[in-house]
Amino acid sequence: MKIRNTRYVLTVWLLILGLAAVAQKKKYVLVVHGGAGTILKKNMSAEKEQHYIAALTEALKTGYGKLRSGGTSLDAVEATIRVLEDNPLFNAGKGAVFTHDGRNELDASIMEGKILKAGAVAGVTTIKNPITAARAVMEKSEHVMLAGRGAELFAEEAGLTPVGPEYFRTEERWQGLQRALKADSARAVQDHDGKTSAVEPVINIDQKFGTVGCVALDQQGNLAAGTSTGGMTNKKYGRIGDSPVIGAGTYCNNATAGISCTGWGEFFIRNVVAKTVSDLIEYKGYTIDRAAGAVLDKVKEMGGDGGLIILDKQGNMAMPFNTEGMYRGAVTEDGKIEVLIYR
Ligand code: ASP
Repeated sequence: MKIRNTRYVLTVWLLILGLAAVAQKKKYVLVVHGGAGTILKKNMSAEKEQHYIAALTEALKTGYGKLRSGGTSLDAVEATIRVLEDNPLFNAGKGAVFTHDGRNELDASIMEGKILKAGAVAGVTTIKNPITAARAVMEKSEHVMLAGRGAELFAEEAGLTPVGPEYFRTEERWQGLQRALKADSARAVQDHDGKTSAVEPVINIDQKFGTVGCVALDQQGNLAAGTSTGGMTNKKYGRIGDSPVIGAGTYCNNATAGISCTGWGEFFIRNVVAKTVSDLIEYKGYTIDRAAGAVLDKVKEMGGDGGLIILDKQGNMAMPFNTEGMYRGAVTEDGKIEVLIYR
C-alpha cells in the first residue's frame, strides 16, 4: 500500500514538473534577420551597434503589433520587412548595394505555409518596397516570380509606390562599389563577407551587411516567410541570388517550418537550402536545429557561408549561421524581444 502511494505521489510530481516545463518553454511568434557575415564586435562602434539594435527592435515591434491585433503572418512578415527595407542600414530597399554598372537591382520573395502560395520579384529598380511587390505577385497574379521591367510595370498596376532609381542610393554603398571595382572589377562581392572572398580588404573596411528576412506565426497557426535584398556588390549581367528563389532563399510550410536565408546566394541556390531544410524535417523527422545545421554545413563544405532563421508552428525557432555574426532577433508570444548580433 505504502509503495503504491509513493508511486502515485511520484507520478503526480513528475506530471506537475512536466507541465511546468511545457509552460515555461518559450513560444516564438516572429523571427527576423538583417544579414550574416564578418560581423565582429571589435569592428563595430557603440553608436552603430545601437542603430542596428534599434532598427531590429523596431522591425520586431512592428511585426508583433500586426500579430497581436489579429493580423496574418503574411501581414506581419511584409510589415516587418518594409521597416528594414526603408532603413538604409540594411542591404534591402533603400541602402541596397550597387551592381557593377552602378545600379541598385533588388530581389525579394514571400511565401505562406497553409497552401504554399508564393510570390517573388527579381532585378527590380523602381519599386520602393520589393517585399510588397512580391506579395502582390503572389496575391494578384497567376505567377510566382516576375523579373525586371515586367515586374515593375506589374507593381505599378497593382498600385505600389514607384520611385526613381536614385531613391536607393546611399554614399556608403556607392563607396563600397568603388572599392570593389578597384580591388577586382570582375568579381561580385558578397555584401557581408570578409573572410572567404578574394577581395577581403574591400569589405572589411566598413563592415556592411544586410539582406533582411522574417518568419512569423499568426494566431490562426499559419506561418509565413519572406526575404529581401540588394544582392551582392559589383554583381553583373542581371545576376539574381537566392533571395527571390522559392526553395533556396525562402520557403514556408505549416507542416514543417518557415525559413529565410542570408549568405552567398550561389551556394544557397545550389544547395536549395530552404526547401532542403524543410524536407529534412518532413521526410527525416529532424528537429529544426538539426535540419538547419546539416544544410548550412553542406554550404560551408562547398565553400559558401551564411545563415538562416527558422520558425515552426509550435513556436520553436532557431537562428543558426556559420559566419562571425548575424543581425537577428525574435519575439515571443508575450511580446518579449531578443536582439543579437555576434556569435
Ligand atoms: N543571399 C544574398 C544574395 O546572394 C546576399 C545576402 O544574403 O547578403 O543575393
